[in-house]
Amino acid sequence: MVSQKSIYPSLFPEEELNENISSERKEYDLTSLFERLAKSDFRSRFHLSMKDREYIMEKGLPTIRKHAEDFVAKRLAPAVIPNDGKQTPMRGHPVFLAQHATGCCCRGCFFKWHHIPAGRALTKEEQEYAVAVLMAWIEKQMNKG
Ligand SMILES: [Zn+2]
Repeated sequence: MVSQKSIYPSLFPEEELNENISSERKEYDLTSLFERLAKSDFRSRFHLSMKDREYIMEKGLPTIRKHAEDFVAKRLAPAVIPNDGKQTPMRGHPVFLAQHATGCCCRGCFFKWHHIPAGRALTKEEQEYAVAVLMAWIEKQMNKG
């Protein structure tokens, strides 16, 4: 018997949610990016599963955003990533899917899709941009019903 709760191993401790959403969050125009992504067979084959949706509903988008911030900071932002190209699993967390779907999975793809060069640490702004892209994809998927 597998309980609902054990489907996703707890990647994060139940952190205290600090809901004070920064009011100065930058808005990005991602229209042309999403148009380009839609033309890629590889990128457009990623979708949230029912389990992913349930997980997002259960955690709430602010928590998912924190996970995205954490993944970006630890797995995408460093100047040197020894396993770059392989650091993002194909499943296990909705943000991983979002990373593949949007070209935010590794620095090679991040450069190809977002024109931000590899070999140096991402700035705070670039990390915020990546998180905005990931959350935009997740919200689009959630709104697809
Ligand atoms: Zn990649």
